[in-house]
Amino acid sequence: SDRLIDAGERIEDEADASLRPQTLDSFVGQAQARHNLRIFIEAARARGEALDHVLFAGPPGLGKTTLAQIVARELGVNFRATSGPVIARAGDLAALLTNLEERDVLFIDEIHRLNPAVEEILYPAMEDFQLDLIIGEGPAARSVRIDLARFTLIGATTRSGLLTTPLRDRFGIPVRLDFYNQAELELIVRRGARVLGIDIADDGAMEIARRARGTPRVAGRLLRRVRDFAMIVGSGRIDRAIADRALIELEVDALGLDGLDRRYLSTIAMKFGGGPVGIETIAAALSEPRDAIEEIIEPYLIQQGFVQRTPRGRLLTPHAFRHMGLAVPSEFAP
Ligand code: ADP
Repeated sequence: SDRLIDAGERIEDEADASLRPQTLDSFVGQAQARHNLRIFIEAARARGEALDHVLFAGPPGLGKTTLAQIVARELGVNFRATSGPVIARAGDLAALLTNLEERDVLFIDEIHRLNPAVEEILYPAMEDFQLDLIIGEGPAARSVRIDLARFTLIGATTRSGLLTTPLRDRFGIPVRLDFYNQAELELIVRRGARVLGIDIADDGAMEIARRARGTPRVAGRLLRRVRDFAMIVGSGRIDRAIADRALIELEVDALGLDGLDRRYLSTIAMKFGGGPVGIETIAAALSEPRDAIEEIIEPYLIQQGFVQRTPRGRLLTPHAFRHMGLAVPSEFAP
């Protein structure tokens, strides 16, 4: 696979749980979000109340799950985790909710993918800490109301635009996570190297950070791959030269774009004259699901100024043509 972020990566994250920062202070970056969270957490603790519901929105691998765990730890409460697609029936969510203790955190990843019938019962649970369930069927059916512990729901989504308005409105603390800058990623790489006992030079950490697609999960993954490379073909120490050789092997280019990023750009350039071209057409040409393109590939390419979203479709920028080593068509020249 030419994908840097995939299901397998989740498993690697778990294997390296030691890499996850455990406190707000040791969490690098997202300064504004951390600042606000610290205040809300302290206020909730001082009042002895549950924290208001929190929504983390942003591309995969930016630390939504990690922050949710940190919030629970800082609140001193239990952390229970599930995900939108896993909760198939209303009863599944009811079972989770009725098992929560006062002030616990329930984390729902990919909350934009909740089944609508499940979402319905989440509204009164979030608002009034009550569960309205229908027991039985037909004329014997009756509705029962169950009081829940006052809990904190933390939702995470890669697509806040896909959240229904009633659900979005029930989160008192919406938090948007942005891509990390180079200095922040360098700190994350150096900290990861320390935790994993890897010998790394400053220029090695800089090179991995520069090519980590603004994403801590990618930085962690590249660090582990470059370490393997340094062990087998180098002295074991990661410096810039070894990092560069390993990243070329991994098809991560000088600006950190991976194989799929480049395939996306070259497809729009070569097959569609640079656009504008619709997302469905791009998805068909790449044989990749539209969701993955919108959630994983495009946010970074847009942020880096390679592509623009216009009403008529995706449009490459001159920067994209130049990066791909292609002549900039005259109608694209600024
Ligand atoms: P998300 O839930 O947004 O997909 P995760 O919270 O699972 O992302 O983070 C992915 C990986 O990146 C984890 O291994 C985590 O430890 C690491 N990570 C994320 N944010 C940071 C950060 N600010 N500092 C250090 N490591 C981080």
